[in-house]
Amino acid sequence: LDYSLRQKTFQQTLDAERLDGFIVTHPPNLRYLCGYTGSNGLLLFLNGRRIFFTDGRYTQQAREEVEGARVVIAKGPLLTAATQLLSETRSAIMGFEADHTTVAAAAEMRKLMDKRIAWKPTSGLIMRQRMIKDAEELRLIHDAIKLGAEVYQHALQSIRPGVRELEIAGELEFAARKAGADGMSFDTIVAAGKRGALPHGRASAQPIPRRGFVVIDSGVVLHGYCSDMTRTVHMGQAGREQRRWYDAVLAAQLAAIDAVKPGVTAAEIDHAARQVLRRAQLDRFFTHSTGHGVGLEIHEPPRLGKGQQEQLEAGMVITIEPGVYIADKGGIRIEDIVVVTPTGCTVLTPVGKELLAVC
Ligand code: ZN
Ligand code: ZN
Repeated sequence: LDYSLRQKTFQQTLDAERLDGFIVTHPPNLRYLCGYTGSNGLLLFLNGRRIFFTDGRYTQQAREEVEGARVVIAKGPLLTAATQLLSETRSAIMGFEADHTTVAAAAEMRKLMDKRIAWKPTSGLIMRQRMIKDAEELRLIHDAIKLGAEVYQHALQSIRPGVRELEIAGELEFAARKAGADGMSFDTIVAAGKRGALPHGRASAQPIPRRGFVVIDSGVVLHGYCSDMTRTVHMGQAGREQRRWYDAVLAAQLAAIDAVKPGVTAAEIDHAARQVLRRAQLDRFFTHSTGHGVGLEIHEPPRLGKGQQEQLEAGMVITIEPGVYIADKGGIRIEDIVVVTPTGCTVLTPVGKELLAVC
């Protein structure tokens, strides 16, 4: 992975923001900028130089993984070590990740600093860069999505009445581990029957009923990148009403995918899905946003929801996942990952969306 290009691009951001330096501590940002996958790391940008701090537990890992920065193994807290180095500079305006700094760390920073150093809280400077995936990231995301689809297809074989939701989730997660996944993007959701009305119903000990929808939402992490997909199957043949709900959610999902292209706002994509459900008089059951960015983290910007004015750009990777949740009846959600291209988008999730009746 081309860390030097990522560091160079971020340095340009620092220059544009008139920052002499920057402190990175959020683990996904560390991984993105210098390849470090451990915890307790601190990457210091200072006047065009980069120094990476960690503690003795990660000596070997830091030496092996960190690219484009000098590695310093600190004895005490990393912030203290970084500050000692800063105290040698004449004066500096230092940025830090306000969204990922605890109140305690901020107080510590103030205490450690002398008058020559000014701290400037910033938000989303690295995320803005991470939103646009480079070619290598797209390849890794695609690999994760392919694995996520395979383990879903595998887990599907274990669905039958009487099997507990947890067992299906377990099958899926075990298959992912065996295939080399780093882990799961989130706790696998298997929500059958009435439980399907909970948009985030984690797999429970409830047995799969003879009839009704089963929502399965899962994602694997492979080489650091997350996949995310949802399919809804029906136990037994779906009735007319159930089929109408499913068709409406699918039509909403396809309409949203159709609307994806550079320059369109996140809110417009959300609106495209919501409008289809409104025509089917189901919009009041669609209680979450239409999608989210995905990459090193499972939920990244942009968020595809009402009022989100972020414009889509080529290279963004987002989910499209409308759903309806009807109390005492069940839920339906269909989720794919798409990559925004110069002219529209490409769906990366390689799994069909016709309603599957499990008998
Ligand atoms: Zn999902
Ligand atoms: Zn999602």
